[in-house]
Amino acid sequence: MTKQLPAALFERVLEESPDAALIIDDDGKICYMNAALQPLTGYAPNEVLGQPLDGLLPASVAAIHHGFLQHYIHTGAASKVLGHVREFAIRHRTGETIPILLKALDLGVADGVHYFGAFMVDMRARRAQEAKTAALLEQLEQQAMTDSLTALPNRRAFDAEAERVMARGRRHRAPTSIGIADIDLFKQVNDRYGHPVGDLVLCEVAKTIERAGRGADFVARTGGEEFSMLFPDTPIKMARLVAERMRRAVEATSVKTPDGDCIRVTISIGLAALAPDAAPAQALALADAALYHAKHLGRNRVETA
Ligand code: GH3
Ligand code: MG
Ligand code: MG
Repeated sequence: MTKQLPAALFERVLEESPDAALIIDDDGKICYMNAALQPLTGYAPNEVLGQPLDGLLPASVAAIHHGFLQHYIHTGAASKVLGHVREFAIRHRTGETIPILLKALDLGVADGVHYFGAFMVDMRARRAQEAKTAALLEQLEQQAMTDSLTALPNRRAFDAEAERVMARGRRHRAPTSIGIADIDLFKQVNDRYGHPVGDLVLCEVAKTIERAGRGADFVARTGGEEFSMLFPDTPIKMARLVAERMRRAVEATSVKTPDGDCIRVTISIGLAALAPDAAPAQALALADAALYHAKHLGRNRVETA
């Protein structure tokens, strides 16, 4: 049935196609391009007709394309490109590499010339959308791991990090220590100055604890006014020194309220060693018991399990 249709109709359909179409001869010269190829290359048909296709290919492909074409024509070897839909790229006249979806075809021989055709779909919008989605996902993942008030890692992040640090400690037979810090009598701060000022103090304490730690230490906000710490490669005696430094740093910090008051708080810390074959939760329970002990002994102190 299609045989009865005039050839001009097919040409018209190709011209109107939103996807680019191209025909080259067996010397790699461009014989036809439709209008949709122009935005991909920046060239009008009269600029490229009769020109080698290589000018539209990324440099690395341009260098080998002609050889591949000749090899295919002369040997008839199976092609990984012809007849398949593939991700590919085209070079715009500005030098920009444009991602495309390519279907290249062997059109056969007509009047002694072997022709090849290609359909190309501009993938820029889709790639840009994918990049946007990936960035958004990354941002969401980051948010899901971060405490929004203090910007410290949250419990979810702490749990993941604890598993990682423990596995690493097991592999390297390195000691790991774990700690819980809790602000002393924090309820009184809220009661006296109000919750927003309490939040301000919380942020300042978070910053102070983190700054007093070493680079490899991991500090997370894992409860209202409670912070959990991981000390990789650190025996409990050394962790105690670091925890003492954190405690002193908080003790030495004063937070100015919008009303001009200066608030000072202290923290108590419980520490425990992370046994190589125990779950982090077990060490956390021990650290929590040590923290309870520190509170019982009068607060503003570090206790070890
Ligand atoms: P202790 O020394 O025994 O820990 O005394 P505490 O008052 O700190 O302990 P308690 O558990 O009685 O109170 C904790 C307080 O922390 C109560 C709660 O209002 C406050 N808190 C928890 N999360 C937040 C928060 O996000 N913002 C503010 N402003 N306060 C919080
Ligand atoms: Mg608490
Ligand atoms: Mg408290």
